[in-house]
Amino acid sequence: MARVAIVTGGTRGIGEAICLALQQQGVTVAANYGGDDVKAKAFTDRTGIAAFKWNVGDHQACLDGVKTVEAALGPVDIVVNNAGITRDGTLMKMSHEAWDEVIRVNLGGCFNMAKATFAGMKSRGFGRIVNIGSINGQAGQYGQVNYAAAKSGIHGFTKALAQEGARFGITVNAIAPGYIDTDMVAAVPADVLEKIVAKIPAGRLGQASEIARGVVFLTGEDAGFVNGSTLSINGGQHMY
Ligand code: NDP
Repeated sequence: MARVAIVTGGTRGIGEAICLALQQQGVTVAANYGGDDVKAKAFTDRTGIAAFKWNVGDHQACLDGVKTVEAALGPVDIVVNNAGITRDGTLMKMSHEAWDEVIRVNLGGCFNMAKATFAGMKSRGFGRIVNIGSINGQAGQYGQVNYAAAKSGIHGFTKALAQEGARFGITVNAIAPGYIDTDMVAAVPADVLEKIVAKIPAGRLGQASEIARGVVFLTGEDAGFVNGSTLSINGGQHMY
């Protein structure tokens, strides 16, 4: 039987590349998204992968969303917590709402999705959870106290949950991407981005498919001894 995966934020950017790479491995994939129905429909049209809308920052919505996916595709074996947002600003300018929203979606989303799927994985003796962190959670980034805190939290969450799942065939790992060519990075002002690229030893932005390669490895049947790790994929920008 094919494994079933949910990729949150799977309808564009890094998430789309992850969906496609898992599909190529013979995995049955469900792509979650947050609100952009037009992009989600275009994604399903070009990939044939079903898209399911719910807010990963909403606990009940995750429980309901997983139930819907499982009714359609079967029990979920693989969760890729990829959905993420930015609400940048220096501390002095950052609102409470911008802090709360980024923590709720980026970090809370990982908790909510794990809560919705962990018991099932445990009962079946197999699970793969991959959490998408960030180089900015490892190194910090000016103007991103909310995002860096959430992503750094993901790395701790990963190491703690890995210990809970290990004996039940569940692995929990993280990937910390560097700067990847997606809509999120397109939103960074050109002059700022130029300075960032100048600091990447590879001399370029990463491609979404290069993050997806890491997910394929970490979710593989033969990756059961890789647990609690963070895979940095950043062109050599930050060696951690
Ligand atoms: P994009 O902004 O291109 O795509 C984000 C995806 O997440 C979309 O599918 C979006 O859905 C979905 N999403 C946003 N909010 C929610 C929500 N509340 N509930 C469910 N889905 C949601 O992001 P990237 O592909 O660039 O980034 C993917 C992940 O990688 C993020 O976690 C990001 O922090 C991380 N990352 C990205 C880096 C980069 O350089 N791009 C670097 C390091 C980490 P919708 O289309 O409906 O809005």
